[in-house]
Amino acid sequence: MMVDRDTRKLLIETVAQRVIAGADELTALDGAIGDGDHGINMRRGFEAVLAELEKLSGPGLGESLKAVGTTLVMKVGGASGPLYGTLFMALGRTLTDDVTRERLAEAFAGAIEAVKARGKSDAGQKTLLDVLIPVLAILREGGPDLPARLKAAADEAAVRTIPMRAIRGRASFLGERSIGHMDPGARSSALMVGAVVDVMEGLA
Ligand code: ADP
Ligand code: MG
Repeated sequence: MMVDRDTRKLLIETVAQRVIAGADELTALDGAIGDGDHGINMRRGFEAVLAELEKLSGPGLGESLKAVGTTLVMKVGGASGPLYGTLFMALGRTLTDDVTRERLAEAFAGAIEAVKARGKSDAGQKTLLDVLIPVLAILREGGPDLPARLKAAADEAAVRTIPMRAIRGRASFLGERSIGHMDPGARSSALMVGAVVDVMEGLA
């Protein structure tokens, strides 16, 4: 499919609105195993994105994603700002307006590698990667009911962080006590995946 200006705008806007709507939940999750600012950080970042929505959705998808990433790095702060910034910037370096499932999977795989490098992190450490990586696996698979499977994979993967022990980020300071709570970054990633899938589904 070709992602035109209206679609770029809707994508960016929907992701931003979902994260902002989930900010209190994200902050509560971070309150349990971190410093309670994840929702505040993400809301600040995505409010800045919404404030620049026209400008950010103006150029092609690649440029738009890079610009969103830059805004997130500048405005979100914390550990998650540079990581989400890296994710969006890496996606922007690879994607053009002509998006196919294969191209999206390839770009997403590259972006996940960039996040891993930035965070010195990997699967199983109770971070946002524990949602992004299983979502990539489904995206690569393709097949029937892909939108529903992508959303379910994201939500289920966020739930699977509950019994994990945090090995990266602030939650790792808690050691065993990080067990039993959902990772806030995993949840924000699931919210973003849900938003992107809903927009793509509405257009299909
Ligand atoms: P901070 O921990 O600096 O307060 P946030 O609260 O905004 O930042 O974000 C916390 C989230 O960032 C965690 O829930 C986790 O998903 C993610 N995170 C933290 N460190 C890493 C890392 N090294 N690699 C991947 N994700 C990380
Ligand atoms: Mg925090």
